[in-house]
Amino acid sequence: MPSLAKTIWHQCVDFVYPPLCLSCKLYLKDRKALFCEPCLTKLHWINPKFRCICCFRPLDRFSLSCKQCRTTSCGYIRVAAAFEETELAVKILREFWREDRYGYYELMCSFMIMQFYKMGWPLPDLISYIPTKKLARLQKGEDGNRLLAKMIASHLQIPFADLLKRRLFPDDLRFKWTKDMIIGDKVILLISDCHNPKSRRYREISYVLSEGCARKLYFLSFTSMR
Ligand SMILES: [Zn+2]
Ligand SMILES: [Zn+2]
Repeated sequence: MPSLAKTIWHQCVDFVYPPLCLSCKLYLKDRKALFCEPCLTKLHWINPKFRCICCFRPLDRFSLSCKQCRTTSCGYIRVAAAFEETELAVKILREFWREDRYGYYELMCSFMIMQFYKMGWPLPDLISYIPTKKLARLQKGEDGNRLLAKMIASHLQIPFADLLKRRLFPDDLRFKWTKDMIIGDKVILLISDCHNPKSRRYREISYVLSEGCARKLYFLSFTSMR
């Protein structure tokens, strides 16, 4: 389309569907953006200095790890998330699961990559994801965590792999290793939308993947529950 025609077309589209911030409804100059700048500042980055290096629980005093991780050996896993569970972060998550919009994956993916570099973690050999429950998956067609992991893998130029499956009838373990790929001595980054410090899934997954002798597991999420 010639540039004049393109401009007129965009002006018409803007008139009918003005690009508005999804949070405050302010007009957006950048039509690809989802939120205005003042709203994006409402996302609170988590400073990893005040979190346990193993499970990412908030620490009340300066220390490397929490009481629970000090008493158990946790050298095998590292957990982190980009943002606190603020209203806007939850809104982005909700929209991400509800709407099949590329913009949400891109937004979450870029923030997660920034937090990955801030953590100073090594580049992994493989990137995978924590499979969600079937119900959450059905609303979208594909597992949102899988989409996020694939996008992060493509940005970091690291191979993506389906390493885990959710058990249909979980007994004591909810996940199983797919065994589609050799993971011996590999550093693996697992992606999920939300980190729950109280969840036992990190230990469970580390137990499941230790069967394949993975070297180290890193878990990265968009938000962290309080
Ligand atoms: Zn706004
Ligand atoms: Zn801990």
